[in-house]
Amino acid sequence: MLDKKIGILGGGQLGKMMCQAASKWNLNVSCLEASHDCPAAKACNQIELGSFKIHEDVLRFGQSKDIITIEIESVDLVALQDLEKEGKTVYPQARVIEIIQDKGKQKEFYKKQKLASSDFKLLESASEIKQQILDGHLTIPFVQKIRKGGYDGRGVLVVRSLTDLENLLEGPSVIENLVDIDKEISVIVARNPQGEVRAFPTVEMEFNPKANLVEFLLSPARISKKQEAESVELATRLITQLDMVGLLAVEIFISKSGDVLINEAAPRAHNSGHHTIEASYTSQYEQLLRAITDLPLGDPASISPAVMINLLGAEGHTGPAIYQGFEDVISIPGVNVHLYGKKETKPYRKMGHITVLASNLDEAIEKANLVKQKISITA
Ligand code: ADP
Repeated sequence: MLDKKIGILGGGQLGKMMCQAASKWNLNVSCLEASHDCPAAKACNQIELGSFKIHEDVLRFGQSKDIITIEIESVDLVALQDLEKEGKTVYPQARVIEIIQDKGKQKEFYKKQKLASSDFKLLESASEIKQQILDGHLTIPFVQKIRKGGYDGRGVLVVRSLTDLENLLEGPSVIENLVDIDKEISVIVARNPQGEVRAFPTVEMEFNPKANLVEFLLSPARISKKQEAESVELATRLITQLDMVGLLAVEIFISKSGDVLINEAAPRAHNSGHHTIEASYTSQYEQLLRAITDLPLGDPASISPAVMINLLGAEGHTGPAIYQGFEDVISIPGVNVHLYGKKETKPYRKMGHITVLASNLDEAIEKANLVKQKISITA
């Protein structure tokens, strides 16, 4: 298992942290990325130049590997299907990536498999949405999501009033009931080829309302034992019913009335699991490597309460990154700074993250607020 050649499609920060975990056991990992100047370059055995969106690049890259995995789901699917036909191991499997790439197929899967998620319908265009409203088949409020290609909230529109209809997105969409959200949480589960499943404890996500990016992530989530158990069960059922091997991050809404509903899932390492590097017995990155190399899964339990802060490029700054307050912040006990090595900062670009550990969550939140005041990324 330890001598298999692992290929990751993508060499961003998630790829980098996978490579860092791989280095613990000297695993052989290469990334397919457009430039040698990518975050993973400093951590992996090699960067192979190419695009994970181009069929022949993915095919060529995969043919020289034993196991192919992803750090992003917008990859060329047909190449992965072709690699599977050639007998290569692709984890997560191409059929899982196919479902995840299309929010419509995801919702249909949840419905068919009786996994709790908000009610929805699939519509083809903005004009069809308007027509449905006129005909009384669709009522405001609702949420429109472009089926393919959206990320970090781009491709999602919450329609609360008639004037919001002017901003409808063009293209085949999922139209979902608007959930009255109390909390957004995430559960990361792993499954190996033996069918063994382990779930990380739930974490709570707090969004930056302007950028729609996770600003703070709290571990553990401040939810009831029952909601925790229901969330872990949903995520476990999802990865099992997908018959998937690898790591699955399941984003869940806890509604104000207490319902536990799947929002969406990502079959890869996830922003909501960064803290596991320092705050868990096994990190999400190591767990993913264990799963895809057919090793026993590690213990996902938490060692410490934690708050994770995404380090986003400051508003109004574009250019070579300057890390203001870096030395102040690394001087605080329990503060772990990760910089991704992206040369250019842009407003809200994910430039790094910080995991703050403390003996209880309130203390970690307090320390995280201090850290946030002290550090900024400017140009
Ligand atoms: P992305 O894949 O771009 O992150 P999401 O599907 O996670 O998109 O949606 C982005 C955000 O929009 C969610 O984090 C949530 O705050 C809000 N949202 C999405 N779906 C719903 C819904 N059905 N009801 C209420 N809010 C929603």
